[in-house]
Amino acid sequence: MKIGIIGGGFMGLALAQKLAAPNRHIKVFEGQAQMGGLATYHDYHSFIWDRFYHVILPGDTFLLDFIKDIGLEGQLAWKKTYTGVYVDKAFYSVSNNKEFLLFPPLNLIQKFRLAVTILYASRIRDWKRMEKLTVEEWLIKVGGRKTYEKFWKPLLLAKLGQAYRRVSAVFIWTYIRRLFEARNSSANQEQMGYIKGGYKTVFDRLAEIFPEQGVDLRLSTAVEHIRPDKDGGIIIEYDGQEEHFDKVIFTAPVNVLEKTVDPALANLKQKGKGVEYLGVVCMIVLTHKPFTPFYVLNIADEEIPFTGVIGMSTLVDTKETGNCYMTYLPKYILSDDPILRKPDEEIKAWFLDGLMKMYPALKKEDIVDVFINRAFKVQPLQVLNYSEKIPQMETLHPDFFVLNTSQFVNDTLNNNSVTRHVNNFLESFSKKISTERPVQSIAQEK
Ligand SMILES: Cc1cc2nc3c(=O)[nH]c(=O)nc-3n(C[C@H](O)[C@H](O)[C@H](O)COP(=O)(O)OP(=O)(O)OC[C@H]3O[C@@H](n4cnc5c(N)ncnc54)[C@H](O)[C@@H]3O)c2cc1C
Repeated sequence: MKIGIIGGGFMGLALAQKLAAPNRHIKVFEGQAQMGGLATYHDYHSFIWDRFYHVILPGDTFLLDFIKDIGLEGQLAWKKTYTGVYVDKAFYSVSNNKEFLLFPPLNLIQKFRLAVTILYASRIRDWKRMEKLTVEEWLIKVGGRKTYEKFWKPLLLAKLGQAYRRVSAVFIWTYIRRLFEARNSSANQEQMGYIKGGYKTVFDRLAEIFPEQGVDLRLSTAVEHIRPDKDGGIIIEYDGQEEHFDKVIFTAPVNVLEKTVDPALANLKQKGKGVEYLGVVCMIVLTHKPFTPFYVLNIADEEIPFTGVIGMSTLVDTKETGNCYMTYLPKYILSDDPILRKPDEEIKAWFLDGLMKMYPALKKEDIVDVFINRAFKVQPLQVLNYSEKIPQMETLHPDFFVLNTSQFVNDTLNNNSVTRHVNNFLESFSKKISTERPVQSIAQEK
């Protein structure tokens, strides 16, 4: 049985590892020169670390099981971390449930409404009805406008940029669930984790075990076209050649699916059309001294160009990061926003100006180095009735499947959800994937 996987991001790689079996030949096509997609690594001159910030939560059980399966359990490190909000030029810690509910910018009634919103959201089971309301409408309805403006809006801006206005209430429901999972295991205080060496450790390990598992990983190999074979199975075209597979699973973003897939495999006119993505432009600052006590600081200040401050070194030992303090400053924007294409130097000047406004004690001479990383297709925008817009795992063809993050209709974007999604797919379709159908039966169906 020959299986093709398109996309060597975390989804495609986890899928390959889990699908591997003695009678299977698996080939993974990755367009970039490095493994890992959005979770890949970057050379910061004196060390290598994740291109974008990644954290593991104690409740990420699917991801943690995967890490254990590939023998990296001993490489996990855990630490208590802090979360903050920047409102009205002041910093507030919201690092445990008490601080969260005592949030000073809110008065007593607003605090009460915040607590009610969280409790109410955590009890909701039927997420589908939340798809009909925007997140703004829902939060104002349940928690009131003042609580919304002071507490929730900064968070929405930090996570979604201005596009939050079109996002459905499902977003905040999934967010509240994930946030509170992080606090459950350690006396209400956030506990976060990472893998020593960053995600590169995971990808290096997979690259080591893949050949033993019969997985052939092709980097720098972008798939150009995917079409049905008239004799059954699927043909993948790449680098001016074509190759036949019994089954193909596509894990790259929807825009790539639209460009590469033959209409006989997936009818994207009805299903996939309309999936919009947020991109991210992220400045990474390396400094001689720390300037933020928070792992995450959400920013509610339109004068500041970035939407969050991620103090990676509040979690990761500075020995991992060239003895420097590492801070990510992300800005989430729609993937067609011209900001995503601004030259690095322009973004650096703009973001550094914002950084100095927030932290006047930070001096230019404290900065060791600055980098700009960007990604165009990061997070599908969960607009109203989003679940009706996505491509399904099963397609028009029995040998072609789609498995990507656009299908997270009630989940946040992270590698735990990715691993869970892969597990669900294998549970539902393992029989269909293992069956090599006789050519004749396909011809009969046609
Ligand atoms: C700023 C940021 C912060 C994050 N923080 C966290 C976090 O704290 N914790 C966490 O768990 N997760 C986090 N994530 C999310 C995590 O990175 C994603 O969940 C995960 O990487 C998604 O993997 P994927 O394989 O589904 O998609 P992708 O990573 O997008 O992979 C798709 C792959 O397909 C490849 N591809 C595209 N076109 C082709 C083609 N034609 N042929 C072959 N290959 C192709 C791409 O190059 C890419 O490698 C973060 C992501 C970002 C961007």
